[in-house]
Amino acid sequence: MDYKAAFEDAVQKVRSEGRYRVFADLKRHRGQFPRATWTRDDGSQCDVTVWCSNDYLGQGQNPVVTEAMKKAIDEAGSGSGGTRNISGTTHYHVELEHELADLHQKEAALLFTSGYVSNEASLSTLHKILPGLVIFSDALNHNSMISGIRAHKGEKKIFRHNDLEHLEELLAATDPALPKLIAFESVYSMDGDIADIPAIVALAKAYGAMTYIDEVHAVGMYGPRGAGVAERDGVMAEIDIIEGTLGKAFGVMGGYIAADAVICDAIRSYADGFIFTTSIPPALAAGAVASIRYLKAHNEIREAHQERAASLKARLIKAGLPVMPSVCHIVPVLVGDAVHCKMISDILLEDFGIYVQPINYPTVPRGTERLRFTPTPAHTDEMMDKLVAALEQLWVHCNIQRVGGVAA
Ligand SMILES: *Cc1c(COP(=O)(O)O)cnc(C)c1O
Repeated sequence: MDYKAAFEDAVQKVRSEGRYRVFADLKRHRGQFPRATWTRDDGSQCDVTVWCSNDYLGQGQNPVVTEAMKKAIDEAGSGSGGTRNISGTTHYHVELEHELADLHQKEAALLFTSGYVSNEASLSTLHKILPGLVIFSDALNHNSMISGIRAHKGEKKIFRHNDLEHLEELLAATDPALPKLIAFESVYSMDGDIADIPAIVALAKAYGAMTYIDEVHAVGMYGPRGAGVAERDGVMAEIDIIEGTLGKAFGVMGGYIAADAVICDAIRSYADGFIFTTSIPPALAAGAVASIRYLKAHNEIREAHQERAASLKARLIKAGLPVMPSVCHIVPVLVGDAVHCKMISDILLEDFGIYVQPINYPTVPRGTERLRFTPTPAHTDEMMDKLVAALEQLWVHCNIQRVGGVAA
């Protein structure tokens, strides 16, 4: 067996499909976000503006967060030194779980090493607690939820994205005696659409189902205290399990669920992805606590964030560029072709110092390849003007159809 050839073939396959991923080597500058230095393969460097970071509010450079992390390292050292059960539950972890429970107004919260792990571990565990559990999953749920639901040893039913009639059909066709869970997201980050949470909650009540919401792209950013869209829509108390990340708007790293104490206790006791891994470093937990507290008290950052997103959308629309109909802070621009998408992103980086990663299949369906911009409160009018001017130039260069216009 030529093992090496098999690996080479596998990579070649990805390349030939235009899906080979090239990572941009970036070094962010604290205090100047979204500015960063990009290092090319040959070692040469140039300064760029980052337009696709999930550090949505710039909390990764907030001194309140970085100082809390430094202090925790000075006090407690680097790693946690163990799994949660075996010496890895520090005071910082306990404090963070209290902070998260308070954020979501739940009895408890449970910390995981990432948002990915929190989804996978929780969703793959529930059938152990609820034998016969049927999971109803939105078709566009994130890979981490799908991964957990695939590992779920029970029935799963996929409803068309945000199609609540389809969800109801599937609920109605399921044995009323069986335990049920509806798993969905609030903000879907590729299209920028938002689930009708109150309607899903109503369906869950009507059919006796539990609800599990991924608020990864909403925590920190929506609701008067930054607890997410369920908080904004006044239905947080009706959701059984809220899942979130500390790695996006909170600017640190880690994932969690918040729920009734007994739910967290049971998942804590059965989820392999919680049990058998080293807990996050104390400094991350301390940074997360500082970040959550800060965002709870600073609604003006959320307002500035929304204003920046609206402003970028308006500029792009004015320029006749094909902004996709997002109802949130994410600004996707349709390209519709994998090669063009990659080419535009390469030219933006090399010639304009603008960094945005192309979003291609399989992350999005073929023919809907796009650039996905995430303006933050730190993106200035000048940065936006430069971006729009560059895109206008490239749209002409690549001969791509503009909205309502003719290809140049
Ligand atoms: C990023 C993401 C996750 C995973 O969160 P991490 O903390 O990055 O592991 C989960 N769900 C959704 C919808 C995401 O976009």
